[in-house]
Amino acid sequence: MLKTIKTVKTVKNNTIELIETQNTAYDKTILIIGVFHGEEPQGEYLINRFLKTDLSKIKNKLVIIPCLNPDGKSINKRQNANGIDLNRNFPTKNWKVTDNPEYFGGNEPNSETETKFMVEVLNNYKIDAILSIHAPFKIVNYDGPAKDLAQKISDITGYPVQADIGYPTPGSFGNYAGVERNIPTITLELPEDETNEVLWEVNKPVFEYLAYEF
Ligand SMILES: [Zn+2]
Repeated sequence: MLKTIKTVKTVKNNTIELIETQNTAYDKTILIIGVFHGEEPQGEYLINRFLKTDLSKIKNKLVIIPCLNPDGKSINKRQNANGIDLNRNFPTKNWKVTDNPEYFGGNEPNSETETKFMVEVLNNYKIDAILSIHAPFKIVNYDGPAKDLAQKISDITGYPVQADIGYPTPGSFGNYAGVERNIPTITLELPEDETNEVLWEVNKPVFEYLAYEF
């Protein structure tokens, strides 16, 4: 039911995996991404747990990247091995060099292996919705035409919808995929102070909704 479609080697020789469900008849295609930021490992846990459930009757095709930033994860840092915040490296119209090292998006957009890989995935599939899993804000943020989907996920989780995260994010994935490519994009910000077990209980129905109902 699951197939690894592609693997990409990072600067530190870690592997990024792209996994697909192999349902041939499906309605929509959903892209799910974990660990954009290396110190936010919760998404990968939830994804792997969901992939262990029985997926034989899913309605939609799932395209999954359990961990986009394995180099950052290996050192528990937000950025990748080059010190770049991947969520500021996308080639958006408003891209610019950022001074703040915490959000440094590189000297030019789309410079990183991880970013190029994401852009390629968006070019290769007709994606109907994106779930990108982050921490620690406990909100459902969205970009592009995703207001209803954000509200649905908020109803499921109890995390409030927040359309604007409160600070500018040039080069962010949400800006790129949601605003500029018009793909409904959810940035699910998990709370940081919950166990994986509680996160799974709360968010399992989000995965189920995207796989079976959306
Ligand atoms: Zn994040």
